[in-house]
Amino acid sequence: MNVNESQKVAALLKRHGLQEVSSQEEADLILINTCSVREKPEKKAFSFLGRIKSPGKVVGVMGCVAQQYGGEMLKKDRRIDFVIGTQALHRVPEILSHFLQDHQRIAFTEFVSDKESLSIFREPLATPGVSAYVSVMQGCNRFCTYCIVPFVRGRERSRPSVEILEEIKALTSHGTREIILLGQNVNRYGLDRKNDLTFASLLRKINTHKGVRRLRFVTSHPASLGDEIIHLFGELDTLCESIHLPFQSGSTRILKLMGRGYTREEYLDKIEKLRKIRPEIAISADVIVGFPGETERDFEDTLSLIERVRFDTLFSFRYTPRPMTRAAAFPSQIPEDEKLRRLRTLQTLQSKITYAKNQDQVGKIKDVLVEKPSRYPEGFMMGRAKDNRIVHFKASPTLAGQEVKVRIKQAFQNSLLGEMEEGHVH
Ligand code: SF4
Repeated sequence: MNVNESQKVAALLKRHGLQEVSSQEEADLILINTCSVREKPEKKAFSFLGRIKSPGKVVGVMGCVAQQYGGEMLKKDRRIDFVIGTQALHRVPEILSHFLQDHQRIAFTEFVSDKESLSIFREPLATPGVSAYVSVMQGCNRFCTYCIVPFVRGRERSRPSVEILEEIKALTSHGTREIILLGQNVNRYGLDRKNDLTFASLLRKINTHKGVRRLRFVTSHPASLGDEIIHLFGELDTLCESIHLPFQSGSTRILKLMGRGYTREEYLDKIEKLRKIRPEIAISADVIVGFPGETERDFEDTLSLIERVRFDTLFSFRYTPRPMTRAAAFPSQIPEDEKLRRLRTLQTLQSKITYAKNQDQVGKIKDVLVEKPSRYPEGFMMGRAKDNRIVHFKASPTLAGQEVKVRIKQAFQNSLLGEMEEGHVH
């Protein structure tokens, strides 16, 4: 989401006459987009700020950390010239121009109207790629007890479907072939809008768009992922065989403390349904270890869920208390060294699963959407298979945007290496 918002702000600034440069030294303006979902990215933002050599440069901070600290940031760090909250990204050029005129440092973190806060997404991307993000909504209503998002991003606000479809039309006319819809909880798209599409009908509509070859969405909340969407994995030809479905804990007791709104069994039931409809579907998820009160038994439930589901990819994190959240005040916070031990145990287990599942791909022929030159020696391109696996293979850069068949020869921890099958470009 932050990547998409940074792209939008960059496009907006370009339209206002600014030029992108390739290094910090060359820049007159440094604008830092920040994330406060965990403690680590927040610390990263502050340490990046600390390393900026700023004489003569304008420094702005935007995003969730900006929203969280507001004017405090200006007091804390003299280098910062302006702070822009999550709902005012469309105002960056205006705030910048005021600062350049009167040199008054400013923090703008007010929540504005839905229409205004979503207006940044109308900005066309400056250089859309083969694969592009399209935000369909902002904010979240769920208030999971560990999560700062609803506080810093506000409540759910869906974009009008007309705008989303227009954006997709513009992207595909510039060569984009894969659309990744974005939202904190995409399944709730449209519920805040009268007489507009639901998420399922939006997916159906995008599926009929001629230029769209592939469609994905992120993130789904297990409690909001209903049967209608699950069935679409068996109906829509553009909908790729991958889903990100965070489970956060394998213990129903901890899920309740997290306020997640589903049990371990309900989560497993959704996975079973998805695999029944689309057996080859790749499943990725997020999980937190060391939530307050998590016992060894709860942690073992998480490990057993991982063993049962065998995720293709898993993003695992150690719990860190976030300001404003209920869980930060929960008793029985877990000591850091214990959280780390659990995280390492879990990651060792998952690494083996990921590697084994990648090895299972060797010998298969996969449909790969060619994206860009890969980090492999010259002459190699990278693309993604429908299950979202990264594939490197020898190919001409002119094939970017095409779907090709690639036979997998070797598998690594995070990617696959293959050879393009002759005569199978479409
Ligand atoms: S669903 Fe829960 S974890 Fe996800 S953004 Fe909303 S509050 Fe945060």
